[in-house]
Amino acid sequence: MVTVSAYAATSGKDPLVPTTIERREVGPHDVFIDIKFAGICHSDIHTVRDEWGRANYPIVPGHEIAGVVTEVGSEVTKFKPGDHAGVGCFVNSCRECPSCVAGLEQFCERGMVGTYGAKDRDGTQTQGGYSQAVVVDENYVLRIPDSLPLDAAAPLLCAGITTFSPLRHWNAGPGKRVAVVGLGGLGHMAVKLGKAMGAEVTVLSQSLKKMEDGLRLGASHYYATADPDTFKSLRNSFDLILNTVSSNLDMGKYLGLLGVDGTLVELGLPEHPIEVPGFPLLTNRRSISGSLIGGIPETQEMLDFCAKHGIGSEIEVIDASYINEAYERVVASDVRYRFVIDTATL
Ligand code: NAP
Ligand code: ZN
Ligand code: ZN
Repeated sequence: MVTVSAYAATSGKDPLVPTTIERREVGPHDVFIDIKFAGICHSDIHTVRDEWGRANYPIVPGHEIAGVVTEVGSEVTKFKPGDHAGVGCFVNSCRECPSCVAGLEQFCERGMVGTYGAKDRDGTQTQGGYSQAVVVDENYVLRIPDSLPLDAAAPLLCAGITTFSPLRHWNAGPGKRVAVVGLGGLGHMAVKLGKAMGAEVTVLSQSLKKMEDGLRLGASHYYATADPDTFKSLRNSFDLILNTVSSNLDMGKYLGLLGVDGTLVELGLPEHPIEVPGFPLLTNRRSISGSLIGGIPETQEMLDFCAKHGIGSEIEVIDASYINEAYERVVASDVRYRFVIDTATL
């Protein structure tokens, strides 16, 4: 066992505080990763503040992990010391069910083991990336291509795959009109990835404050959802809408923006149930769907795609002591576009 520094939440109301945690001995199939950077996902905040009602304190959050392999177990074949490696939202699954066999480990029928706040196979609780190191089975570790800087790569492990997977699944590409609702951590990755796949991307943000950024990241159009004209002028305009908003929206208004057979994919996980009115759903034979991160093979495909297209996240690197302030800024939609913790400051 090795003791490492970390930042943890001890309740839903108090700020996160410095702490130490234990990491297990490197087993035959394990990889020891010296964590360099960890992104702050809005899911960390929902979890820590118990907005999903499933918090087990203390929690060390962090599922956008990028670092360097320093030790590997005797049976490990995929990694060697010195490799750049990443860990996303889960660190294990059953490996036998149809979902696991299909590389859709996020839908493991026996439940994936989350990177933090989950029961690990040894009965202890998993703890995440706001820490100096982590030990993970090699089958749940991703290769980060050397051309990607580790700080800008960290958010790809959640925000990147969460937007890449539905863009691929619903065939974003030339001729597809894709709208991205919310220009935050997920949203800005959706814009970059959608553009790189060849789709025509429109940002729907609360205001026009970030319009210059949105267009620079690859959007062709940018509208403010606070302006009621937006919903009139864009009626029936999109094939695919990715909703990345962390709060509940008036779904009927957004469904009205889809053309015939269009799909709204819900990526945000707001605190309250999502209400869907009938008329705008049935009109145009529209669909509403959801998408949850992505499996290991697709996450690797996403990282390789990002390396090929020179895509990283737009980040603000912070010291660990700034985590609580960063949380407030994310909740206030004041993030451009992902906070990434420099774990050397833990
Ligand atoms: P984020 O950085 O906070 O981005 C969310 C964006 O939504 C904000 O930047 C803001 O963009 C917009 N927004 C916030 N509050 C709003 C409101 N009341 N009305 C309208 N728009 C609002 O969060 P994130 O890290 O991208 O995560 C977004 C959501 O996805 C969270 O609920 C998170 O838990 C969830 N998530 C899901 C998955 C998955 O697998 N499906 C994975 C990761 C995260 P504008 O300022 O541009 O309006
Ligand atoms: Zn996340
Ligand atoms: Zn499984």
